[in-house]
Amino acid sequence: MTAMPLEADPGPDAGVAPAPARCLDIRNLSKRFGGVYAVRGVTLRCEAGEILGLIGPNGAGKSTLINLITGTLRPDTGEVTMDGRSLVGLKVPQCARAGVGRTFQNIRLFSHLTVRQNVEVAHTTASRHRVGGPELHSIDDLLARMGLGALADRMATTLPYGLQRRLEIARALALAPSYLLLDEPAAGMNDSESEQLVDLIQQIRDDFGCGVLVIEHDLRFIRRVCERVAVLHMGEILTIGGPDEVLNDPRVIEVYIGGGEDEPA
Ligand code: ADP
Ligand code: MG
Repeated sequence: MTAMPLEADPGPDAGVAPAPARCLDIRNLSKRFGGVYAVRGVTLRCEAGEILGLIGPNGAGKSTLINLITGTLRPDTGEVTMDGRSLVGLKVPQCARAGVGRTFQNIRLFSHLTVRQNVEVAHTTASRHRVGGPELHSIDDLLARMGLGALADRMATTLPYGLQRRLEIARALALAPSYLLLDEPAAGMNDSESEQLVDLIQQIRDDFGCGVLVIEHDLRFIRRVCERVAVLHMGEILTIGGPDEVLNDPRVIEVYIGGGEDEPA
């Protein structure tokens, strides 16, 4: 019998398939505030061009996860790579230029700028630093796609809430992101606005070819727009799968009832 060669320590990633060339890959990511984990050992992959939902009760760690991906917060441990490139340690503008666009749970538009100028700021930054990557869409095109063409000269924060959320998406798209992270994009929208947003997100994915990670409390919205859904509970991934499978999972229903949230639709 031939002697077996000594094997290297398989390490903490043992059993996790290597990331494909194009994906937003989150490995074993953790972040504590004080002694409390907001995000704990999260491993999650958003494939190129995929619409992936992220749900979970208030305080589950969803926004923290986006902040860790986009350079707003630095993880205590773990790794985030975008198309094979590490994002950990990059600052917010570097993450944006690398191809990660985002919107905020609490809208953060430049209140002293018009609708057009809000998009222009991101567009100018993107064009100045462009080295390869997808083609930038014109500002007019971005505004028209988001139904904001006629409102270009209005001050951004005078828009109705639903349109401010659309403007945040237009601003994120000005970076021609490879991955778009949306933090509760339908919050404050009425039924018809959120219905239109479902179509818009799918259109964006098709036209921009970007992956989309969408956090949303409205589970009917999630069911309609997402191809897969991940559930975060107390900082940890509870389950990931197709929308029907996940939203009918008794553990997921329990988490929502236990948290006093809406039940899955
Ligand atoms: P979600 O978006 O799922 O509602 P968050 O990511 O906002 O949850 O919050 C997760 C947990 O982390 C909560 O307990 C929250 O209070 C805590 N947390 C988030 N940001 C901070 C911060 N900057 N400092 C301290 N605690 C925070
Ligand atoms: Mg949040």
